[in-house]
Amino acid sequence: MTALPEEIYRKLKKVLAPPIRVTLLTHINPDGDAIGSMLGMYWFLVKKGCQVSMAVPNDFPHFLDWMEGADQILVFSKQGAKVKEELQKADLVFCLDFNEPGRLGKMKQVLEGSDVTMILVDHHPEPECTADLIFSDQEVSSTAELVYQLIEGLGDVELIDTLIATCLYVGIMTDTGCFSFNSSRPRTFEIVEGLLLRGIDKDRTFSLVYDNYSEDRMRLLGYSLEQKLVVIPEHRTAYISLTRDELMRFNHAKGDTEGFVNYPFSVSNIRISALFIERKDHIKISFRSKGDFPINSLAAQFFNGGGHKNAAGGESYEDLAVTIKKFENLIEQYSDEINSIP
Ligand code: 5GP
Ligand code: MN
Repeated sequence: MTALPEEIYRKLKKVLAPPIRVTLLTHINPDGDAIGSMLGMYWFLVKKGCQVSMAVPNDFPHFLDWMEGADQILVFSKQGAKVKEELQKADLVFCLDFNEPGRLGKMKQVLEGSDVTMILVDHHPEPECTADLIFSDQEVSSTAELVYQLIEGLGDVELIDTLIATCLYVGIMTDTGCFSFNSSRPRTFEIVEGLLLRGIDKDRTFSLVYDNYSEDRMRLLGYSLEQKLVVIPEHRTAYISLTRDELMRFNHAKGDTEGFVNYPFSVSNIRISALFIERKDHIKISFRSKGDFPINSLAAQFFNGGGHKNAAGGESYEDLAVTIKKFENLIEQYSDEINSIP
């Protein structure tokens, strides 16, 4: 669904006014689109006079904490009671950038048994949330793009100022890998035009996100590429795995391995990439594919995960070596399909 019916916008317009209390939620391990769309929505609703709170399941990376309003975001793993309190007071909840309650991790308990009105704004396939209103379109680049469309549909595009535009730009920029994927629709660029017209500083925003890492992270990237990249040319697949010891050796901080999964594609002919990160009690996996190969199905079927056709993630409760072996076996099994990707 790309557009919501006029009647819905009319209803929403009536509702999104004082004294309504709104809570915004987004997924575990929040990324640039999660935080960007949340803060864009936050500043818009604040402008509308709504009382707004925001909550995420766990911490988000340092390269997003410069964003205005980021310090207002409640982190459930540290401020669980406060999040529950806000949810109890809320008249309306926006669920941003996720398609099933499991993506809220432990924070999903705050919605259990709640009868608060929920609106889902998301771009993942097959939303499974029992929201009262679902504004979902998997063709768009990002949830931030949908937030722009929602504001536009409400007739409030004039309320988008530099601050809101910058937040939405972060969402679009990060979810498209700086316009290198998920960004072939002209509409995405029309929206970016709208954001540029609001006076965003595109280059500074880029630098605040991508030139804001620690030296340790840069060296971890170097180590990952030099020592840990495994290339399997016959299956056009490459992957990187990192143990907890390796992460500790490089003083790993939240978000340090974000984006690592895209590097294997720089090797000619690679169509499938994966990143295995050993966590305390599980292995977190990122998957990427090119073309029509649905890596989200593989993530869902074999690694308790999901995501988009070309960008997905999952978890394994087996050890790192077993998890990698399982992935290698699957890649071998799907070799014909992978080899037919243009
Ligand atoms: P990333 O690899 O950047 O963490 O995630 C890529 C995509 O996969 C995102 O759209 C994210 O929402 C989705 N994703 C990542 N991990 C999981 C997971 O454990 N479960 C599900 N359902 N989706 C995931
Ligand atoms: Mn997204």
